[in-house]
Amino acid sequence: MNNVFVYCEIEDGQVADVSQELLTKGRSLANELKCNLEAIAIGHKLENVGSEIIPYGVDTLYLADDKRLSPYQTLPHTAIVVKLFQEQKPQIALMGASSIGRDLGPRVSSALHSGLTADCTSLVIGEHFDKKANKNYENLLYQIRPAFGGNIIATIINPDCRPQMATVREGVMKKSILDPKYKGKIVNLEVPKYVSDTDFVVEVVERHMEKSKLNIKGSPIVVAGGYGVGSKENFRLLHELAEVLGGEVGASRAAVDAGYVEHERQIGQTGLTVRPKLYIACGISGQIQHRAGMDQSAQIIAINTDPEAPINAIADYVITGDIAEIVPKMIKYYKKNTK
Ligand code: FAD
Repeated sequence: MNNVFVYCEIEDGQVADVSQELLTKGRSLANELKCNLEAIAIGHKLENVGSEIIPYGVDTLYLADDKRLSPYQTLPHTAIVVKLFQEQKPQIALMGASSIGRDLGPRVSSALHSGLTADCTSLVIGEHFDKKANKNYENLLYQIRPAFGGNIIATIINPDCRPQMATVREGVMKKSILDPKYKGKIVNLEVPKYVSDTDFVVEVVERHMEKSKLNIKGSPIVVAGGYGVGSKENFRLLHELAEVLGGEVGASRAAVDAGYVEHERQIGQTGLTVRPKLYIACGISGQIQHRAGMDQSAQIIAINTDPEAPINAIADYVITGDIAEIVPKMIKYYKKNTK
C-alpha cells in the first residue's frame, strides 16, 4: 500500500506549524489506510529537524540538505518533490496552503498530472460509487472545502490519479505529537540526483521578512468586530475590551474592507483560522466564510442587534443589542468584578 506524504516547510531551521498540523492529520489518515506516514524536508543544515517531525508519527523522513536549497526556491524544491513522488508513489500528499505550498503544490501536481484541492477545511477517508463505470472506489481522500463563494461545502475526490494532493491553511488542523520517542528512519537524499544546475537559475540576493507583531492565532480570547461596529473609532471599544480581557482583536472581511481595521486581523476563509477559548463576535452576521475561521472556538458570545443573525446559531451565548451599549458595560463590569 502506498503511503501518505507531508511536505514539511522549513523556516530558519524550524518546521512550520502548518506542517506539524498536517503531520498529525497525515498520521491519522495513514492509520486509517493502514500505511506509513512519510515526510520530506528540503533546506540547509537540517540535522535537527528530525526531532520536530518524527515524533508526529513519521515512519520515513527524507531530507534534501544543500546550501542552495535554503531559502525556498520554486524550481529546485519542485524538482526534488516531483522526483521523490515519482519514486515513492504516495497515495496522498499534503502541503500547507501557505505562500510556499501555494507555489509548490500546483507545480508538483501539474508535473505529475495529479490534480490538487487547495485550502481544504477537512480531510476524510471515504468511498465513492461511480454509477457510469459501475465501479466502487474505496479509501479515497475526501478533500472538503467551501466552494462557489462559500455557498456550498464541496467534497472533491480524485479516483484515478495519484497522489491525491491537498493543501490546508495553518490553524485548520490541530497539531499533536504522537510519541516523543517514535522510531522513524531518516533517508538523506543525494541532492545532485534530484536537481540540475538549471534548477538554480534564480539567485536570492536579499531577503527582507517583516513578522507580524500580532498573535491572534495564539490568543486565548479574540474580540472580533464586523461591519456592524460601524467605524474605525468604534473599533477602539473592541480594543479596550480585548485589553481588559487579555485578548486580541479580530475582524470580519466586511470590517476590513470598510477600512475599520487592518487586513492582518481578518478571520475566516481568506483570513486567519482561530480556535480560542473565547470568541466574542461583535456586529458580525456570521456568514459561512467568516465561520470557517472561528467555528472551532471553545465558547462563542455573539453580540448583534439582529436576533436572527446566523452567528447566533453557533453561539453559546447570544446578547441581542447594540455594541455601543453592550461593550462598554462588559468593560465596566469586568473591571469592577475582577478588582
Ligand atoms: P455584515 O454581514 O454586514 O453583518 C453586520 C452585522 O452587524 C449584522 O448581523 C447586523 O445585524 C449587525 N449590526 C449592525 N449594527 C449593529 C450594532 N450597532 N450592534 C450590534 N450589531 C450590529 N468574510 C470574513 O469575515 N472572512 C473571510 O475570510 C471571508 N472570505 C470570503 C471569501 C469569499 C470567496 C467570499 C465570497 C466572501 C468572503 N467573506 C469573508 C465575506 C463574507 O461573505 C461576508 O460578507 C462577511 O463575513 C460579512 O461581514 P460582517 O458580518 O461583518 O458584515
